Amino acid sequence: MQTLAPTIRFDLSSLATLPRPRSIISTPQFHRDVVIIGAGPAGSAAAVTLAKSGLDILLIDSKKFPRRKACGGCLNAVSVRLMEQLLPQSTVQKLWNESIRLKKFHVFHKQRSIPLVMDHGGFAVDRSRMDYVLVDHAQSLGVEFLSPAKAKLTACDSDLRGVEIIADGAAQTVLAKVVIIACGLGNHAAGPFQQFQSTPAKNSRVGVEAVFDTFPPEYRSGDLTMAIGNEGYVGLTHMGNGRLHVAAALDRATLQKHGPQEAVDHMMRQSGAAGLTQTDVTWRGTPPLTAGAASISDDRVFVIGDAAGYVEPFTGEGLRWALENGAGVAPFVISAADCWRLQIAADYRRWYRRTITARQKLCRRLSFGLKSASVRWVAHQALRVRPSLADSVIKQLNS
Ligand SMILES: Cc1cc2nc3c(=O)[nH]c(=O)nc-3n(C[C@H](O)[C@H](O)[C@H](O)COP(=O)(O)OP(=O)(O)OC[C@H]3O[C@@H](n4cnc5c(N)ncnc54)[C@H](O)[C@@H]3O)c2cc1C
Repeated sequence: MQTLAPTIRFDLSSLATLPRPRSIISTPQFHRDVVIIGAGPAGSAAAVTLAKSGLDILLIDSKKFPRRKACGGCLNAVSVRLMEQLLPQSTVQKLWNESIRLKKFHVFHKQRSIPLVMDHGGFAVDRSRMDYVLVDHAQSLGVEFLSPAKAKLTACDSDLRGVEIIADGAAQTVLAKVVIIACGLGNHAAGPFQQFQSTPAKNSRVGVEAVFDTFPPEYRSGDLTMAIGNEGYVGLTHMGNGRLHVAAALDRATLQKHGPQEAVDHMMRQSGAAGLTQTDVTWRGTPPLTAGAASISDDRVFVIGDAAGYVEPFTGEGLRWALENGAGVAPFVISAADCWRLQIAADYRRWYRRTITARQKLCRRLSFGLKSASVRWVAHQALRVRPSLADSVIKQLNS
């Protein structure tokens, strides 16, 4: 994999090019129109969309890119279209050539398999590669990328927001007209501003994931498999290079009691899906999967992507919300950078409710249904008699 263009280092001579306005934040400091904390799909989609507006943008990520991210990498048809709008045609085509087209969806529940058609043009992508190309494109449009550097919101005055950045062991403050928090699940970039902090739902499940090099031949390339057990579910997809990505959403108590390997094995056995025999894999955990921030915009701050709110993953919804939210926040940020008014924050919240929250409703219902044994049983019986009943749900998720 080629490396990214050199990342921006702390060099005040190159950064402190704008006049320094009055500020309550201690020096040394520098200024940008927009600071984006987090270079996942939400942050990068915002950076790419905003770059076209001529604003001066600094994108920051705590990890060195390309970086690994716990994700099945399933893009639904809408995410595919959004990627095609964000990236140049040759770049996105190269990404699709390296990815796997999703064709079938196998649901395993109570020792039965229900095969469903899923040919809506979705892909399973390598997340580290996808996020890398988005950041790379943002940089080619003039966005500065600072990584690895940890950032958090600090004080604000009437004109500017402060962001504290820690890189190479040194702390520095950047002042911005607008800050976008796009730091994913377990949002710690809000600093002391509790209202922007994401809070997990009370009985939220947690995620675990691992990559398998050896696995049963039943898990074919182009198939998305979901094994549903009593304490959660497991999603399995090929991720290219002959590897299988396994991600599970589990009740916290089950995970604590059995650990990831045993809990996943148990759910696979309960569902009737072929067991995974490789034992030397490294499991990675995630913060609680259902969470939301109390406020997603105020005082020159916009919260987007998983940091704003997330519901358990299904067939490519998380990436769709992140990309849609990243591109959709741009007009609000442009207005805010021009002249901040509280009304902009209210308008963004309304837009978010109508688009992202409205789409998350279906996943909330599915997630609730999967947790209830009786709802699972009714759905199972209905799908056995008429598998086409799932079509409308799959279509809704892809439309
Ligand atoms: C196990 C699992 C499987 C999933 N599978 C799928 C799937 O198959 N399909 C799908 O569509 N969705 C899936 N999702 C959801 C999807 O991964 C997320 O919805 C998506 O990554 C959200 O993008 P984001 O940009 O909001 O956040 P992220 O992708 O999490 O990006 C946030 C970035 O912020 C950086 N960051 C964090 N804190 C700081 C800080 N203080 N300073 C600087 N940088 C910071 C992080 O390093 C990271 O790069 C899955 C999620 C999980 C947990």
